[in-house]
Amino acid sequence: MSGRPETAQRETPLAAKLKERIRRDGPIGVDDYMQACLSDDEHGYYRRKPAIGAAGDFITAPEISQVFGELIGLWCAVVWQQMGSPARVNLVELGPGRGTMMRDALRASRIVPGFREALSLHLVESNATLRAAQAATLDTCGVPCAFHDDALMALAKSKYIGDEPTIVVANEFLDALPIVQLEFRDGRWCDRVVTCNAARDDLQFGVDPSDGVPHGHAQAFVPARLSPKEGDIFELSVHPSRLATALGARGYRAPLAALLVDYGHAASGLGDTLQGVAGQAYVSPFHAPGETDLSAQVDFERFATAAHSAGLAVDGPVPQGEFLGRLGIVERASRLMAANPSQAAAIEAGAVRLIAPSGMGSRFLAIGVRSPSLAPLPGLA
Ligand code: SAH
Repeated sequence: MSGRPETAQRETPLAAKLKERIRRDGPIGVDDYMQACLSDDEHGYYRRKPAIGAAGDFITAPEISQVFGELIGLWCAVVWQQMGSPARVNLVELGPGRGTMMRDALRASRIVPGFREALSLHLVESNATLRAAQAATLDTCGVPCAFHDDALMALAKSKYIGDEPTIVVANEFLDALPIVQLEFRDGRWCDRVVTCNAARDDLQFGVDPSDGVPHGHAQAFVPARLSPKEGDIFELSVHPSRLATALGARGYRAPLAALLVDYGHAASGLGDTLQGVAGQAYVSPFHAPGETDLSAQVDFERFATAAHSAGLAVDGPVPQGEFLGRLGIVERASRLMAANPSQAAAIEAGAVRLIAPSGMGSRFLAIGVRSPSLAPLPGLA
């Protein structure tokens, strides 16, 4: 994708709604802004205009190559075996998009006897349109599936997802969870907010002028090794940390293994990674509120720390290229090419794109978290 141009702001219905809210109640946090842009009941991007795939706003690994979902499916089956092949296992996917990864995963895992029969499939998806797409994609897969709106709720309550052993998978889910941004001003961390420029009637970033450190002890979350300069930004991934805590609580009750693949950094750092994406190009986060995707790079160090604190063991993160390599992407793609000679070039191109060291192979990382009683997870340790 191209760089991040400063694009003009479009007066979308959500932009008007947010400006009215800001004029009435004052500036809002970056997390509130992200939450509204993605999940506003009327105008949120994921509520109304999901645009995943080659013709949409962004394309994801399972949409690039079927081999991605197939390898994830085999990964799940091996983890199930490592759990002792329990008679019942929950397979949970967070943010399944069009359902492509799960479809490919379930097809590939047929070769492991007993696995599919043991499955209770759970899809966590907040978008009604995507839920319908997922149901249609998985209609013929032969495994009944339950839908849930909210990841924390579904993981926390056994009335939603039973207390059997659980395998969780998620691709590009964490990056869609709202982040808090802090800005270093006059020697301390302040809350970065979204305000309205009265003269231009535009949305813009600002700093919370009120005294005192916002978010309680923000300082405590910023690693001491970082030495911020005036204007530096630190992103607090509050929601991914909550997810890690929910996984920990479930992993305490019954064996749990989770695999999360996303773009981000292995170590917490300074910098503003909030970005808009529209039509496969980067745009300003204010470009067209509610009509462009917004995401932030995942802070894997923070996620791992939260998982550790919640009593889980952590494997990785490792670069996606390395992870898929260890799972046998080259061999699998080669076999698929031999079986489908007319599509060999496309199959190869897809696999290469997923593992390219200069692209997705290194920009995306895979991390595993598990109950400490389980063996290290395949491809990650
Ligand atoms: N995993 C898919 C889709 C990634 S896009 C793929 O790789 O193609 C992010 C997905 O997470 C979408 O399905 C989106 O609707 C869903 N999502 C985003 N925020 C969510 C939330 N808070 N709760 C549940 N689902 C969410």
